[in-house]
Amino acid sequence: MNDRISQLLKRAPGPAPVVAEGWVRTKRESKTVCFLELNDGSCLKGLQVVVDLETFADAAVLGRITTGAAVACTGELTASPGGNQDVELKASSITLHGEAPADTYPLQKKRHSLEYLREIAHLRARTNTMGAVARVRHAVSYAVHSYFNEKGFYYVHTPIISTSDAEGAGEMFQVTTFDLDNIPRSEEGTIDYAQDFFGRKASLTVSGQLEGETYALALKNIYTFGPTFRAENSNTKRHLSEFWMIEPEMSFCTLEGDMAIAEEFLKYVFSYVLEHCAEDMAFFSQWVEKGVAETLRTVVEKPFVHMTYTDAIVELEKNNDKFDFPVKWGSDLQTEHERYLTEQVCKGPVIVTDYPKEIKAFYMKLNEDGKTVRAMDVLVPRLGEIIGGSERESRLEVLTERMTSLGLDPADYWWYLDLRRYGSVPHAGFGLGFDRAIQYITGMQNIRDVIPYPRAAKQADF
Ligand code: ATP
Ligand code: MN
Repeated sequence: MNDRISQLLKRAPGPAPVVAEGWVRTKRESKTVCFLELNDGSCLKGLQVVVDLETFADAAVLGRITTGAAVACTGELTASPGGNQDVELKASSITLHGEAPADTYPLQKKRHSLEYLREIAHLRARTNTMGAVARVRHAVSYAVHSYFNEKGFYYVHTPIISTSDAEGAGEMFQVTTFDLDNIPRSEEGTIDYAQDFFGRKASLTVSGQLEGETYALALKNIYTFGPTFRAENSNTKRHLSEFWMIEPEMSFCTLEGDMAIAEEFLKYVFSYVLEHCAEDMAFFSQWVEKGVAETLRTVVEKPFVHMTYTDAIVELEKNNDKFDFPVKWGSDLQTEHERYLTEQVCKGPVIVTDYPKEIKAFYMKLNEDGKTVRAMDVLVPRLGEIIGGSERESRLEVLTERMTSLGLDPADYWWYLDLRRYGSVPHAGFGLGFDRAIQYITGMQNIRDVIPYPRAAKQADF
């Protein structure tokens, strides 16, 4: 394999011939020279290829090279007289692998809107913005595994097809092989799931947490990192129907340890990206969200603010006349409230804890007040929640009672309750929305532009 352009750009000039492969971003021509800017996705910057028209043998091939064409250029790396780069390639021969006819190629040199690019998602990775997003996504994934590996957490693969609703929220995509025109029904007319593929109602998972907990109660510290699916019909800039989630789960750990890990983990990932994706982060800072790299750096340096839900409500009530939905104790926090807390009150990430039990999931540990649970959400400017977590209810009786009062049948969760029957222990965990984290890091406005092929209500192209 030949060197990537990112590697070639770091090489010293020299006479040994090198091959640069990539797609042409721009082509400029004068009477005597032709300049091609070549990009292969390895970095934002392209390699400048210089063709001396007076000595270049294959003039015909040059005529067929346009923006978007795939080429391999052989030649010598020379010191570049232009200020933009240290080296450029003086081409002695060029292989044109694939043309990109200018009259039909949808990605011309001009700046395209992100909305337009979503319509040509199969080509948008060839743009500066989407290339940078792809590289940051990669770096963040790597940093996630690297953090947990260094901390001795085991990566557990929880199932995608599930028969339990982890959030108890019912926003699940059903998985069935029934002929939808002819669904088997019982004599009373209800759907006979016994005849379905799994012999029972099945769905795509909304979270790997419940299964993750079973491994945490054996391996102590584990994490999952996989796709999750939610059929919420919310058409927002921060929700997808298919998104990736990272869910660590720790045994012998309470809410305090949970919050400490969440903060350390986020800061580790942010630092990693700042260090390893400096060029892309500078691009986002300049073109996408002014100063986003600097903001991240400040976040890494400052301790996160902590606040209880009850205190948060006191702060929010002061501003109630400005919210679309005024709050009082017991209200679920909407994005506008989360953003107000993190942007106006705390001016940075804040961890809100101890929410009313009515607005949180059944598995969260009940506080002694009987009204709030040991939940924690990490809120960040621009987005609101990026992490939702809690200490889990480890007491069998309390958990069973919570489920029953929420209308869940404990029998359906028999295996989950077994964790409280046998060797139960305080444990805690959280879920970080991977795509939302990418959105926060890059400053991209819409979550649909930080994942290659976004799935949302009425959107599943490609
Ligand atoms: P929100 O209130 O923002 O809808 P949630 O409370 O439903 O989120 P959790 O169930 O706590 O979210 O999930 C954990 C994390 O997963 C969230 O903090 C968020 O980062 C991410 N997340 C949740 N739903 C979505 C979604 N539809 N698309 C992308 N990320 C999501
Ligand atoms: Mn949440």
